[in-house]
Amino acid sequence: MNVQTLMNDMKIDFAGPYRMSINGELVDAAEKFDVFNPATGEVIVRAPNASREQVEAAIAAARAAQPGWAALSWERRREYITAYADALDANKEDIITLLTTEQGKPRHSMATTEVDYAIYWVREVAKRKLEDEILEDTPEHIVKVARSPLGVVGAITPWNFPILLGLWKLAPCLITGNTLVMKPSPYTPLGTLRFGEIAQRVFPKGVVNIVSGGNEQGVWITEHPHIAKVSFTGSTATGKKVMAAASGTLKRITLELGGKDPAIILPGADVKALVPVLFDAAFGNSGQWCIAAKRIYVHDSIYDEFRDAFVAHAKTKTVGNGMDPNTDLGPIQNRMQYGKLLDMFADVKKNGYKVALGGTIDESLPGNFVPVTIVDNPPKDSRIVREEPFGPIVPLLRWTDLEQVIADANDTDFGLAASVWGPDREAAIKVAERIEAGTVWVNEIHIHGIDIPFGGHKQSGMGVENGREGLEEFTNAKTYMFRK
Ligand code: NAD
Repeated sequence: MNVQTLMNDMKIDFAGPYRMSINGELVDAAEKFDVFNPATGEVIVRAPNASREQVEAAIAAARAAQPGWAALSWERRREYITAYADALDANKEDIITLLTTEQGKPRHSMATTEVDYAIYWVREVAKRKLEDEILEDTPEHIVKVARSPLGVVGAITPWNFPILLGLWKLAPCLITGNTLVMKPSPYTPLGTLRFGEIAQRVFPKGVVNIVSGGNEQGVWITEHPHIAKVSFTGSTATGKKVMAAASGTLKRITLELGGKDPAIILPGADVKALVPVLFDAAFGNSGQWCIAAKRIYVHDSIYDEFRDAFVAHAKTKTVGNGMDPNTDLGPIQNRMQYGKLLDMFADVKKNGYKVALGGTIDESLPGNFVPVTIVDNPPKDSRIVREEPFGPIVPLLRWTDLEQVIADANDTDFGLAASVWGPDREAAIKVAERIEAGTVWVNEIHIHGIDIPFGGHKQSGMGVENGREGLEEFTNAKTYMFRK
């Protein structure tokens, strides 16, 4: 590979057809499915629906390419992945526009951030390396633990952050010497097909394969004996199916699943400063975020002040088409999720819960638009407090007793992330230590990093992404012992 000559050839034609990447070739499928623009309800394009033979061919290609890819030095793989980050950069503006078109998120804010962040991630992960560990080195004996690649990784992604979550899997999979078969969500396949197409300009054939389709292609991947690991991001319900399917051949699995993250606001918190931060944490990406703040527990002494300021701030936000620069929050990404939200809104209405803002979805609009909705102190056992709505509706919950609010925050099968807010950092940390979640932020939220492991406790997942631990999950530990 000559990176310099590649640079001239990195732009791809975004007007061209959307094709899958199998064994270095761009291929169509006999069957197609519709991909919709969620802001208009119109079909953007019909995408290829991979046949079983095509999924088999993608896995076979990845399998054939893997030994050669793994035989390259770590540094050589880094060069390829860095060249790929350059190629993504060269196509960045088109990827952002496509992301807004198929996912809905605002082009000028969330979509740009997602793509920038994803490219940064690819570039940075390429710089990481898993060094051998010497556990014992005596005059007689050496014990060394090395990390070897697993083989072919099957990556399955959801529709809320399709570019970021896809590239979060691609980069660590490749740097550790594995090859890839990725299947994006049927709701947002286009960006992934495009970044697959870009990958074909950079990587040896068979290293990156992308197949699109519905859910059954996911099943074929998770059951396949030549897939060594499944890296899955999606709902808890599907995660359980993936785990069951993977058991057939004892595949390694990383499951990044749903959440119902609590935010606990302690007495004396700075309401004015907190309101815009928690608004973004709860409603960013229109609430379609695994780690969105999904239950906001506010101490009784500041509850009314917080609610009123939260509502006033929310009223300054515009829901609309993500291509419009005045839009703060885009539509719900798909009709299935929109239907679930209609059901959740109906439940809030039926039960007569107090709504501080919003509460009614205008179904006459052509896109999947849902208004920002703030539910004022609903009961603990209400659906809006217990379920993950995955949309712009959030309950505020009044609390007085610290022991009780910690118990309430933990009273869920989810354990993805949480946040605690208060003027006394030590007191807030003490609360954080008692929250059952993979990540707990104190007086900040939604910080991620290449070297920071991220994963859910309880039914929010298994294993982690990112950090040294995340990279290790793409490898086997291999112990060597040498007699001197
Ligand atoms: P989903 O589980 O419906 O689908 C995710 C992916 O799995 C899609 O590509 C889908 O086609 C595929 N799939 C469906 N059935 C399958 C099966 N039986 N076998 C294999 N693959 C199958 O999830 P979604 O609705 O796309 O995403 C929303 C969910 O994802 C939310 O619960 C959210 O919290 C979660 N999520 C979690 C994280 C995290 O990092 N923890 C990040 C983003 C989203």
